[in-house]
Amino acid sequence: MSLKRLLPVFLIALVLGGLVYLRQPQNDGQVSRTALIMGTVVDVRAYGEDQEQLELAVTAALDEMSRVEQLFSSHMAESEVSQLSAAANTLSLSPEVVRLILRGQQIGAETSGAFNMTLGALKKLWQIESENPHIPSEQELSAALSGIGPDALTIVGTAVTKSRPELVIDLGGIAKGYAVDRAVSVLRQAGIKSATVNAGGDISLLGDKRGKPWRIGIQHPRQENELLVTLQLKDQAVVTSGDYERYFERDGIRYHHIFDPTTGKPARQCQSVTVVAADAASADALATAAFVLGPEAGVRLLERLTDVEGLLVSSDGQLLKTSGLPE
Ligand code: FAD
Ligand code: MG
Repeated sequence: MSLKRLLPVFLIALVLGGLVYLRQPQNDGQVSRTALIMGTVVDVRAYGEDQEQLELAVTAALDEMSRVEQLFSSHMAESEVSQLSAAANTLSLSPEVVRLILRGQQIGAETSGAFNMTLGALKKLWQIESENPHIPSEQELSAALSGIGPDALTIVGTAVTKSRPELVIDLGGIAKGYAVDRAVSVLRQAGIKSATVNAGGDISLLGDKRGKPWRIGIQHPRQENELLVTLQLKDQAVVTSGDYERYFERDGIRYHHIFDPTTGKPARQCQSVTVVAADAASADALATAAFVLGPEAGVRLLERLTDVEGLLVSSDGQLLKTSGLPE
């Protein structure tokens, strides 16, 4: 979604947040804040007795997400990820960035390459989220895909080497989840026992809500004000990847932002994938990967992984679930 389209949503959230805040008595056991980070509306809520502790913790969690954005953003020229994209071959990166790239590579290996962090050139080619998106020719697609295989990035210590200078790195499918994990970690370190962090559909839940599981409604991919299911969760992350927020339509065809690395085109077999996992970075990347693999292979992948559950909607609207989904 472009910033221009997000701004009204952000303003409404801010006004509603402000109204709720104004109407609340000083010590009602909850603090919530909304901010625009990573091009998306981020909402952090913490629950507890000590209002000052809650406020400090929520502010620190949002600051931490901004710090993560500055490391991983493709939209910021000075971020480490942008510097790696600009580098001719080898660049030494901070251990934190290397760790997330390694995690992404591992998920790439577990998903037969469906999750791929070297699709930046493809993303630039399509310009899905801009005012002037472009449907590329086969020639343009094969140029953007060249060199993106499993050996595209080699890591030795903190030195990351690209197989080709042209490779553009894009952690858009995992870094938002990671930022959510970092926010939860900061809340926990601040002594918070109960909180939620939501970055545009990448959600993590710390503890429970006053002794009961959180109830998280999963949006229907085609009916805007309808829920597919409500999940009951605690101390877990739940992340949804869908084709219904960042897309454009031409001649009745929907072109969205989750690419099949084998074709260079938007993956066609799903409308949405929701993944429940212990951490949001894994859930984020697995949701993107299962979306690319399609409903049957996606369910098989999620069933195979320990402590991971999921809910997939196929392109013809069928609902598929893993056996342990906590509804
Ligand atoms: P997901 O399904 O989780 O991820 C889809 C995204 O992953 C795609 O947009 C692409 O970036 C990437 N991707 C596509 N196909 C694959 C694949 N097969 N394997 C792996 N990755 C794939 N948006 C803005 O509009 N403005 C900003 O300033 C901005 N800054 C950002 C900074 C950071 C650090 C991050 C992480 C994201 C930022 N974004 C920004 C949002 C970003 O452009 C993506 O839209 C967002 O991360 C996608 O998240 P999602 O949950 O919608 O989709
Ligand atoms: Mg994702």
